[in-house]
Amino acid sequence: MSAPDVIVIGGGLAGCSVAWHLASTHRVLLLEQGDHPGGEATAQNAGMLRTMGEDPTERALALRTQAWMEGPPCQDFPEPVSTRTGAVLALACDPDHLSDAVAHLRARGEVLEDLAKPAEVAPILAGAPLARAWYQPTARIVDPHALNQGFLAGLRRMGGQVRAGVQAVDIASGRVTLASGEQLCAEHVVLATGAWSAQLCARMGIRRSFVPIRRALMHSGPHPLYSPEHPWTWIDDVGVYVRPESGGWLMSACDERPDYPSPGPGSQGPVPEGTRALLSDKLQRYLPALAQARPAGGWTGLRTFAPDRRPALGPDPERPGLWWAAGLGGFGVSCSVGVGQAISSWIRGETTAWLHAGSVNPGRAHPSRWLIRPDGDLRHAKLASAFP
Ligand SMILES: Cc1cc2nc3c(=O)[nH]c(=O)nc-3n(C[C@H](O)[C@H](O)[C@H](O)COP(=O)(O)OP(=O)(O)OC[C@H]3O[C@@H](n4cnc5c(N)ncnc54)[C@H](O)[C@@H]3O)c2cc1C
Repeated sequence: MSAPDVIVIGGGLAGCSVAWHLASTHRVLLLEQGDHPGGEATAQNAGMLRTMGEDPTERALALRTQAWMEGPPCQDFPEPVSTRTGAVLALACDPDHLSDAVAHLRARGEVLEDLAKPAEVAPILAGAPLARAWYQPTARIVDPHALNQGFLAGLRRMGGQVRAGVQAVDIASGRVTLASGEQLCAEHVVLATGAWSAQLCARMGIRRSFVPIRRALMHSGPHPLYSPEHPWTWIDDVGVYVRPESGGWLMSACDERPDYPSPGPGSQGPVPEGTRALLSDKLQRYLPALAQARPAGGWTGLRTFAPDRRPALGPDPERPGLWWAAGLGGFGVSCSVGVGQAISSWIRGETTAWLHAGSVNPGRAHPSRWLIRPDGDLRHAKLASAFP
């Protein structure tokens, strides 16, 4: 390939989606610091495609992803990369917590059934003390690895290039410097650098606020209520979710702990004992059908947020030619296709009627402190510093 038009830094779902969506019109070079693309947050998540998010831009992006998943197979994705399982979104304490999301999605034609007896749809909710619950039949579970591999195969088919094991350490307008000292040039540089975004900002001398938050996932072991068709189930306001996996349940207590990664690849961590205890406690309180489960195995990974928990997408207002596809928090699988669609449209000079670019402007102002939920419970949210 002659000199690229676009360099995408980061081979997770955000970077690969942007690269794939651009490759039919631009010469794209994708750079990844790890041995292979897709080894960080993209490999550490629960794969739930959730359109019922709190933030309207998140919902807009996730609806685009869901519509794409429901569409016909295409050349780079001959097999489905997601399964329609349906989902139950429930609330234990605050019945109004998701009211905006419900109204928005219903106005968009999404089916959301109010559930009087949630356990009839999601048996794992038997005995759960719920204030409200909805069933969303269109919800899906995504295979993030298969999705990323499809993006990469398509990128290569369209003449794009992938270089792994290379770390970008500095970006100036139109120029990327690698740790080896090699310099690469392109008209557009897209930063899809996940948890390392704040680090790169510091090196470039710009102040953008990205905070990586560690969260754990564990397994229940074999469980009698397991069914691969069981809807994934999330009690949102108190922070606990489960999805069917390998004869049991993949589970999270929605714990949140700010944690910046070291330079270079490697963001996965072990599950602290305290987090296992937190999950056991929540299962007993809110999911009694799983009260006997002993959370086993598991890992932690980094979800990276801007302080308003809205993604940072589009051109950097201070650095011409620099674009962001970052701050995808706990919704980067859900929004993956939408992110690629939006950024590729904007780089081509097109507008997106379905997403207002100003609302995700990477240069928008943020408070210096923001709310996190250390134990995942909305009522226990605390202020944390937005800057390292
Ligand atoms: C425990 C957990 C559960 C989750 N569950 C869900 C879920 O159910 N549904 C959902 O929608 N989302 C979920 N997420 C969130 C989702 O996984 C992320 O939002 C998404 O993977 C982010 O993708 P990304 O491409 O931005 O980041 P990443 O996948 O981390 O990719 C960034 C890439 O950039 C590379 N990179 C960084 N800096 C450089 C550099 N300087 N040079 C070269 N390469 C660089 C990194 O090595 C990395 O591969 C979850 C996340 C976690 C941790």
